[in-house]
Amino acid sequence: MSPSEQQHLIIVGAGQAAAQAVQTARQGGFDGSITLIGRERYPPYQRPPLSKKYLAGELARERLWLRPESFYRDKDVRLELGVAVERVDRDRARVHLSDGRALDYGYLLLATGSRPRRLEVPGAELRGIHYLRAIDDVDGIAADFAPGRKLVLIGAGYIGLEVAAVAAQRGLDVTVLEAADRIMGRVVGAEISAFYARYHAERGVHIRCNTPVTGFAGGGRVEGVETPAGRVPCDVAVVGIGVVPNVELAEQAGLACDDGILVDAFARTEDPRVLAAGDCTRHPHPLFDYRVRLESVQNAIEQAKAAASNLTSAPRRYDEVPWFWSDQYDLKLQIAGLARGYDESVVRGSVEQRAFSVLYLREGRLIAVEAVNSPRDFMAGRKLIAAGLAASRDDFADAADLAALAARAESARDKDNNKDDKD
Ligand code: FAD
Repeated sequence: MSPSEQQHLIIVGAGQAAAQAVQTARQGGFDGSITLIGRERYPPYQRPPLSKKYLAGELARERLWLRPESFYRDKDVRLELGVAVERVDRDRARVHLSDGRALDYGYLLLATGSRPRRLEVPGAELRGIHYLRAIDDVDGIAADFAPGRKLVLIGAGYIGLEVAAVAAQRGLDVTVLEAADRIMGRVVGAEISAFYARYHAERGVHIRCNTPVTGFAGGGRVEGVETPAGRVPCDVAVVGIGVVPNVELAEQAGLACDDGILVDAFARTEDPRVLAAGDCTRHPHPLFDYRVRLESVQNAIEQAKAAASNLTSAPRRYDEVPWFWSDQYDLKLQIAGLARGYDESVVRGSVEQRAFSVLYLREGRLIAVEAVNSPRDFMAGRKLIAAGLAASRDDFADAADLAALAARAESARDKDNNKDDKD
């Protein structure tokens, strides 16, 4: 692709990736017209505070906006909000909107995100059962929150546990039901799961693992959650059992999808005019020997930068170490890398002092770090994962200076890169 004044970029989905793509495209000199089309009636906003400060009532709605309205005006971006793209006609390079209009594109960026996985059980349609993805969802949940009410959270992933923390602090009676044998089992190791389970329990949250939900009970409004061990009474339920990528538009357009729109390291689909970024994609990554689908702000931002760079003269590869965070009570959990296929783990710091990290190693190389209130280990860990330095177990041990090791690894990598440049 080459830059052209004549080109019209249409971005489908007005979320985290979309806002970043606008910024990167304009910064890189793309001077074609840009239209941002979003199903929600809000300008692009941050989702992380939804299950944290916004739900707690500590953040005004306007503070969620990723950019002020003037940004889109200044960048000459047409915002089409409250309208969805229903069909993509790649032969004509045209999108069809839910209000009947059709728009032609030069480039199309699919940034359609993901949506909550639905729990398909009897009673799922009762009032008082919520999902959490968007501002309107949180407003609905918040209206149902009142001290003393019984809240059941279904799924002990990040979102469920963040909601549990907010609700427990608001004085609700909180129960978390998890089908697996430990909480956050999909995203963190056993030490961190056990620590968080204890922390929640100490704050009055009832956590029940190995407890799949088989249905909801109630007449009109939810009154209980059915499990094989019996009914758990409730006034409100929030379901957080993961997300599914929004790929339907891409599938309809005949683009390859497999649990995500398949893109290369430059966020390109097989159609040179169509890019995709964020939660809706699955992409190759130099750190992994499989395609990954990531659900994080960092992924949306970095992949959107790669996608938009195709419109300028300097395409850039997306190969950052993945990272993520979660806030629960006074605990900041930061994770870098993916702890899959490790052969050793090392715990650093003090679990009792609520400041510790778990490092995951494979063949002497750091592949992931999970840090609780330990930003230094998290930062050093990210650098070490990127550098791929092999070291002894002692180098990673509690007493070792991880930041110094990371600095050594970075300078060794820089030397290697300089040598490669000279060669
Ligand atoms: P989104 O931000 O979801 O935007 C996609 C948009 O596209 C949506 O508004 C959708 O309505 C719209 N859309 C879809 N299809 C169409 C269509 N056909 N036409 C028009 N519009 C369409 N990540 C972290 O890293 N840290 C966290 O702490 C964290 N906390 C989170 C808490 C919550 C409650 C949630 C929901 C997510 C959290 N995430 C967190 C994940 C993070 O917010 C997402 O990974 C990120 O928003 C993905 O950005 P995106 O642009 O791919 O998708």
